[in-house]
Amino acid sequence: MKEFDYIIIGGGCAGLSLAYELEIYDKLKDKTLAIIEPREDYKRDKTWSFWKVFSHNFDDCVKKSWNNFTINTSSETKYVNCEPTPYQTIDSGMFYEKILSKLKLNENIQFFKNIDQINKTNSFLFNSVPNFKNSESELWQHFYGVEIETRKDFFDEEIFNLMDFNCDQRDRVHFFYTLPFTKKTALVETTWISELNNNSLKDYEEQIDDYLCNHLNLRQCEIHFKEQGAIPLFRQKNINKLNEIYIGAAGGMTRLSTGYTFLNIQEQSRYIRENIENIKNVNLYKIQSKYDFLDKILLKVLKNNSAEMGNIFFKVFNSKSITAINFLSNKSNFFEDLEIILKMPKWKFLKEII
Ligand SMILES: Cc1cc2nc3c(=O)[nH]c(=O)nc-3n(C[C@H](O)[C@H](O)[C@H](O)COP(=O)(O)OP(=O)(O)OC[C@H]3O[C@@H](n4cnc5c(N)ncnc54)[C@H](O)[C@@H]3O)c2cc1C
Repeated sequence: MKEFDYIIIGGGCAGLSLAYELEIYDKLKDKTLAIIEPREDYKRDKTWSFWKVFSHNFDDCVKKSWNNFTINTSSETKYVNCEPTPYQTIDSGMFYEKILSKLKLNENIQFFKNIDQINKTNSFLFNSVPNFKNSESELWQHFYGVEIETRKDFFDEEIFNLMDFNCDQRDRVHFFYTLPFTKKTALVETTWISELNNNSLKDYEEQIDDYLCNHLNLRQCEIHFKEQGAIPLFRQKNINKLNEIYIGAAGGMTRLSTGYTFLNIQEQSRYIRENIENIKNVNLYKIQSKYDFLDKILLKVLKNNSAEMGNIFFKVFNSKSITAINFLSNKSNFFEDLEIILKMPKWKFLKEII
């Protein structure tokens, strides 16, 4: 059986981002890499969005970028300008195509459907396969979205809606998210933060229909793409091994309060590439522990005060927009953290800390 220097298990966002990063920095000129991915073909399956707080390798896969967004509760709407850190949406179809066409050119890289097809005894493994079995009672961000096309101009494509809490909450946290790509097309998502075993929240299609008809007053449109997902808002328990590290969502790259993962994956890939020659001895790349600490408190507050979450997220944006965005993108300094913390309802947070 064939042997490889490196094996990436799972050729999704993290696995392919890492392979691409290693390839473009010439780390696979004299090394071999096997990528284990069971899927038959790659097609658009996700829409990854984030505030661009640092440069990354995938500007040419950006479907749309915005400098303005809104966030609203049933009583208030906030307009936020994010020009210094535009909000970008990456089309996963373009991302897969770009990476796969580059990797194909290097004979040192091979794809396999199953790890049993190779000998992994002497390889270093990067594992991105999630193992969230029996975690349905933990908190998840679960969502369903449709990309629609209207007959007439309908959307203002210059501004997207990050969170619309003016909707049925059902004693959980619920909001809609709308990304207008053009005047006629947009991705509209219904998003919940709750346990995953609560099937009463999963009538997603009815929720979308109701929102389009009764909230946006949109009676006729065509659906071109659907996306459904669930992002764990807790950490996978990994057993550390000398010759294996976890990457991507499985490797703790998700921000627990928001589900944002894409840019953290890019930073993790960069860190691994910079340290690849000494990968067995360097520390693991992690999201700073202050964010895990604050996010876990926020999630506890959320569990016990779900009706207030719209207002709490709204308050985050009562700070300067750059402060809020830096905080949500793990780039905030001490003073920015403090500014956000002071905006929170202190007694509720203190109670959860105690
Ligand atoms: C629908 C959706 C939308 C999202 N939108 C955003 C967003 O807007 N912004 C953001 O920052 N984050 C977003 N996320 C979160 C996160 O960015 C994505 O989940 C991202 O794909 C995580 O990358 P990953 O490589 O860890 O996991 P994946 O991309 O899921 O990759 C894991 C790979 O492992 C493969 N695999 C599974 N089992 C095996 C096995 N036994 N052996 C080998 N391979 C296996 C899978 O086929 C898959 O290709 C979203 C998540 C989802 C699900």
